[in-house]
Amino acid sequence: MIEATPVPILSDNYAWLLREPESGLLAVVDPADATPVIAAIEAAIREKGGELALILLTHHHGDHVAGTDEVRARFGAAVVGARADAHRLPRLDREVAEGSEVDFGAATARVWETPGHTRGHIAYVFTEGEQGLLLCGDTLFSLGCGRLLEGTAQEMFTSLQRFAALPPATLVCCGHEYTESNARFARHADPENLDLMAYEQQVLACRAEGRPSLPSRLADELACNPFIRAPDVATLADLRTRKDYFR
Ligand code: ZN
Ligand code: FE
Repeated sequence: MIEATPVPILSDNYAWLLREPESGLLAVVDPADATPVIAAIEAAIREKGGELALILLTHHHGDHVAGTDEVRARFGAAVVGARADAHRLPRLDREVAEGSEVDFGAATARVWETPGHTRGHIAYVFTEGEQGLLLCGDTLFSLGCGRLLEGTAQEMFTSLQRFAALPPATLVCCGHEYTESNARFARHADPENLDLMAYEQQVLACRAEGRPSLPSRLADELACNPFIRAPDVATLADLRTRKDYFR
């Protein structure tokens, strides 16, 4: 299975550095800040060899794409992003849409269109038996979901339900380190959830040591995240509105 490492960038974003173990090839997801991303890629190449093959973009926001051209200029990798948003993404070498497959060494990512946060938001999904890796940008966060900036609660609901059907062992690679603050709202929304209480303690311990809380396991989101657990669109819409105003 692909190895995924979060690269902390900007104030609370992660770019994700991926290595496909058979080929040794590298990919980076949402390289919004070129300097730390280039340093992380160079360190990975020094350590284990390989080369950067792909730059995968999830959506058009600057805090996900701003470093793209600089990273491509340095390594010459192919930039992949949504055809629907090609007009507002950095220049794409490959435009993808629902069902596209992106080869990455011995692995293949499937592209899912996951609107809700933005209209052209896509996710990259790797599965291998009961293992999986989900690069979901700002659609799903640990214990939260993205704001509905360009999409509807119906769209977000559909996107989250698709994620929910992936193998529970799937590692969830989100675009932001929001888990600790998301936990406060999740606990407020679902005060009796013992799994959530235990998961929050784990997250607090992790953050207190300065480690990323991500990737999370899909099984934990299914047990603890009120947004992916919402049984219907109306519940999700209500949760999203309440969280927008939660302090
Ligand atoms: Zn965003
Ligand atoms: Fe973002």
